[in-house]
Amino acid sequence: MIQNIWCVGRNYAEHAKELGNEVPTEPLIFLKAGSCATLAAKEIHLPEWGTDVHHEMELALQFDENLQIDEACIALDLTERAKQSQLKAKGHPWTLAKSFKEACPLSSFFPVNDIEELANLNLIFTVNGKIRQQGNTNQMIFTIPQLVDFVRQHFPVMPGDLLLTGTPSGVGPLKRGDTVEAEIVGKITHKWAIK
Ligand code: ZN
Repeated sequence: MIQNIWCVGRNYAEHAKELGNEVPTEPLIFLKAGSCATLAAKEIHLPEWGTDVHHEMELALQFDENLQIDEACIALDLTERAKQSQLKAKGHPWTLAKSFKEACPLSSFFPVNDIEELANLNLIFTVNGKIRQQGNTNQMIFTIPQLVDFVRQHFPVMPGDLLLTGTPSGVGPLKRGDTVEAEIVGKITHKWAIK
């Protein structure tokens, strides 16, 4: 069961810059509710009130019984950007923009034998066949072992929890009728219809 979704913001320098943010000096962590996750669904239902829901494709890690990483998947850290910008400007928490229903679509999981094998993976996200996001996990500001340690050190991580490791540049809006496809090359691919 996924109780908590620990997320890292601005972990790829190019993405931090595209939103006009400074590159962080320690991991910027925020939460999505565990109940935001949908597992290997075929559809994503955008929130009725959302006018600017952005895709953020990310590598997501899952903690096992011993709080080691034993599985991983693709996660979409869906974000209502207009709402997030308003909240950011006021210095308020991002929960409304980040933690709505179905805000964390997941692919199926693939096994992780050694965390090092995640250090050089290509991520590709397309909308209606056109590439929007492309990056490699070797471009992360904080490495996966650093993120795992940081989260375990500061938070009550539970078995089954996810760690979303940040998104490469190229984030943008989704609209109803879009077909999107996310691929971690050599590991997994997943397709969703936007409703
Ligand atoms: Zn994100």
